[in-house]
Amino acid sequence: MHYQKVNYLINGNKPGLFDLLTFLLSDIQLNRSNHIHANPYHMMKFTQTSTLIILFFAVLSPAFGQHTPDRLLWQADSLSAAMEEQVVEWRRDFHQNPELSNREYRTAGIVADHLRSLGMDVQTEVAKTGVVGLLEGQADGPVIALRADMDALPITEETGLPFASTVTDTLHGETVGVMHACGHDMHTSSLMGVASVLASMQDQLPGSIKFIFQPAEEGAFDYDIWGAKQMVGEGVLEDPRPEVIFGMHVWPFETGTVGYTRGAIMASVDNFSIHVAGRGGHGAAPWKTADPVVAASQIVNGLQTLVSRNAELTKGAAVVSVGSIRSGNRSNIIPEEAELLGTIRTHNEETRQLIHDRMETLVKHTAKAYNTQAELEIERLYPTVTNDAKLVDHMLPVIGSSLGAAHVKEIDPLMIAEDFSYYANEIPAMFYLMGIIPPNHEGPVEPIHSPRFDIDEDAIPIAVRTMSYLALEALFLRAE
Ligand SMILES: [Zn+2]
Ligand SMILES: [Zn+2]
Repeated sequence: MHYQKVNYLINGNKPGLFDLLTFLLSDIQLNRSNHIHANPYHMMKFTQTSTLIILFFAVLSPAFGQHTPDRLLWQADSLSAAMEEQVVEWRRDFHQNPELSNREYRTAGIVADHLRSLGMDVQTEVAKTGVVGLLEGQADGPVIALRADMDALPITEETGLPFASTVTDTLHGETVGVMHACGHDMHTSSLMGVASVLASMQDQLPGSIKFIFQPAEEGAFDYDIWGAKQMVGEGVLEDPRPEVIFGMHVWPFETGTVGYTRGAIMASVDNFSIHVAGRGGHGAAPWKTADPVVAASQIVNGLQTLVSRNAELTKGAAVVSVGSIRSGNRSNIIPEEAELLGTIRTHNEETRQLIHDRMETLVKHTAKAYNTQAELEIERLYPTVTNDAKLVDHMLPVIGSSLGAAHVKEIDPLMIAEDFSYYANEIPAMFYLMGIIPPNHEGPVEPIHSPRFDIDEDAIPIAVRTMSYLALEALFLRAE
């Protein structure tokens, strides 16, 4: 897909002298007052000045290329800063009242009330507890989407924060602690902040913004409702259909840093189980048995060759890991059966399918070679999250203007998974990682899903500003 910059001016379709003067002046003032110096985004704009002047006098068509007018970025700056206290308050409230996947009733209620208070048309109970709001600008323009996830994890919190969660819930009949250990409290509160920022600028916006607050990113748990997949299935990307979508995840690197890729950023994930059926007997007379332990061991070894001998690794990484082997209970009994559990991760659909196909052959035939029988079951979970390279390239300057170009880093794709892939498979998407570790942090860095995971709240206004910038810039793009 090719993107073309389109200018949507606030009062009518054609640029006026006031717009151009404001645009030029804004650069000068911004460079004087902005805390980020030598900002490449604005420097680039200076170099565009002469072109703009020529275009200004020549243009007769409304299709007049430029980035988001700087006055809107300024507004987004000050509005994001003004929202900080409120967003932190929301984040702490969500943190203290976390809800497991598909049970995000309280969170969804707060989100829906907030979006309604901003005058949006709001849909609730999308994919059980999801919330979707549509903010319509005053001028014609594209529809874009922004997404946050709302669910927490069955983990007992150990952060010792004053607003730490003491919530428990029941999962598979057991009592579990519940904690926002994946930062979805920050994702949700930040996107609520972005909604406020952009709603305050509504009369100056072209196009519309769809705010997607999604349940059950961490999995379906005891319901068979998978957050993003279900939202897409229920038509969240239709009527109106967004042209692009943005999503972010907090990540343990320095606050003020954004990580991105131009292709795969997170992996596909599928879980597998292998059941090996043999014939048990006395450990002293193995010739009278069909030993499932030996067969399972050979299968584990064979699985190691799927990536090393079959996957075309130059096209993307892949991992096959066995996490569990269970068989037998005594030293001198050859058991009847063995059970293996594992996970498959890939960075593209081709490799994913190849591994599935080869695994089936390898498992069946290895078992047969040892006089046993094996059944393989693969549970297909999330596809790879793949960023649209052109969209990312269009967006890098505006992220640079929010954070400083040195803080916008191209990263290696990760092997963890995210169901943002269901949106990214439908429309051009950009998923990025937002740093949440304070610059002077000492001691171990707790990863996401740790009971001690925490975020630097200074990252909150940065997250709000960055996503507001992305939304604004995307509104000034139109797909050809
Ligand atoms: Zn998670
Ligand atoms: Zn997460």
